[in-house]
Amino acid sequence: MALVNEYFLRLSSNYLFADIAKKVNAYKVSHPKVKVISLGIGDVTRPLVPAVTEAMHKAVEEMACKDTFRGYGPERGYDFLREAIIKNDFLPRGIKLDASEIFVNDGAKSDTGNIGDIVRWDNSVGITDPVYPVYVDSNAMIGRAGTCTDGKWSNITYMPANAENGFCPKIPDHRVDMIYLCYPNNPTGTVLTKEQLKRWVDYALKNDAIIFYDAAYEAFIREDDIPHSIYEIRGAKKCAIEFHSYSKTAGFTGIRCGYTVIPKDVKAMTLDGNKVELNHLWERRQCTKFNGTSYISQRAAEATYTPEGKAQTKAVIDYYMENARLMHDALTEMGFEVYGGKNAPYLWVRTPHGAPSWKFFEEMLYGVGVVCTPGVGFGPAGEGYVRLTAFGEREDCQEAMRRIKEWKV
Ligand SMILES: *Cc1c(COP(=O)(O)O)cnc(C)c1O
Repeated sequence: MALVNEYFLRLSSNYLFADIAKKVNAYKVSHPKVKVISLGIGDVTRPLVPAVTEAMHKAVEEMACKDTFRGYGPERGYDFLREAIIKNDFLPRGIKLDASEIFVNDGAKSDTGNIGDIVRWDNSVGITDPVYPVYVDSNAMIGRAGTCTDGKWSNITYMPANAENGFCPKIPDHRVDMIYLCYPNNPTGTVLTKEQLKRWVDYALKNDAIIFYDAAYEAFIREDDIPHSIYEIRGAKKCAIEFHSYSKTAGFTGIRCGYTVIPKDVKAMTLDGNKVELNHLWERRQCTKFNGTSYISQRAAEATYTPEGKAQTKAVIDYYMENARLMHDALTEMGFEVYGGKNAPYLWVRTPHGAPSWKFFEEMLYGVGVVCTPGVGFGPAGEGYVRLTAFGEREDCQEAMRRIKEWKV
C-alpha cells in the first residue's frame, strides 16, 4: 500500500476559523434574536472598484474574440503587469528591479506556502510569534518544523512579539537559515520602522540567512518611515524574497492575484559550497507546478495602478482604516490595551485581567454577541490577546463598540 506523508499527521487537525464558526453557530442557536457582529473576519467586504471591473469586462471581451483570445500566459506573468508593478510599487521608492525578478501568482498564500520547495528540508526556521499560520504549517508539511509539543515545533525558533518588547521581536542569538517576517503584521497589526527592519537585514547578511518578507498589508501603511518594501533597506536584495498580494489592497480575495519578488542576488548554498540563484530555481519550480494566473485577473491587477484605480482602491482602504481608527479610539477610551490599527486593518487587544484568549472570546460572544479571533490561534505568544479586524461595515463596527462599552460599564 502507498505510504502517506506522515508529516501531515503532525499538523493540528482543528482549524482556528472552523472552531470559531462552530462556537458562533452554537451561540446563534441559543440566542436567535441577537444580531451577531463579526470582527473576526480576515476577509474584505467592500466590492471591487469600477476601474478593476471595467478592466475585467474588457479582458473577458478579448477572450471572446478569435483575434484577441489568450491561452496559457507566460509563467512569470504578463509583461504589462510586471512592468506596472515595477513602475508603481518599487521605482517611486527608489528600488530598481528587473521584470525577470517579479513572479505574478494567484495570491500570496500559494507562494509563501510553496517557496520552501526550493530550499533544503533541514534548514532551520525562525518565525515571529504570533504569526500567519501558513509559514509554520507549510514547513511542518515537509518535515522542516520537526515535531509539535504544546503548540510549539521542535525545529522552529519562535521569536515572540508582545507588548513587553513593543512588538519588535528579538533577533535570535543563534543562526537560523530561514526567517519569516510579515509587516504590517497579521495578526498584531503592528509595524517595524526602517531602523528595526535594518537589524533583520543585517542579521540575514551576516548569517547567510534568507528573509521571507510578507508585505500583503503594505498598502495600509499610513505613517512615514515605515518601510513598504524590505528592499528599501540597503542589502536586502541579497537576502530577501518579498510577497505581495492584491487581496487586501484591492479586494482580490476572490479574484486571486499577487506577486513574489526574487532578486537575482538572492542565493543559497549547495552542500559543496556553490552559491545558486534562487530566482532561477523558483522559475523552474513554477514552470513545472504552476500555469499562471488568469489573464483576466492580471488585467484586473494592472487596473489598480491607473489613476482611477489608485484613487478608488485608496478610498476603500481609507474606509477600512477609518473603521480601525474608530475602534482603536473607542476601545482605548474604555480602558482596553490596544495595539496595531494605525498602519494595518488589525487591532490586537490585550484581554482584561490576563484572561485566556478563548475565555475572553466566549465572554464577549455571550456578553454582547461580538466575535473576535483568539490570539492563541496564531501561536503561543498570542495567548492573552484577541484580534479584531477593520474589514467590516462601518455601522457594525460602531454598533460593536456601543455594545462593548455598555458591557464594560
Ligand atoms: C491575507 C494574507 C495574505 C494574502 O493571501 P492571498 O493568497 O494573496 O489572498 C498573505 N499573507 C498574509 C499575512 C495575509 O494575512
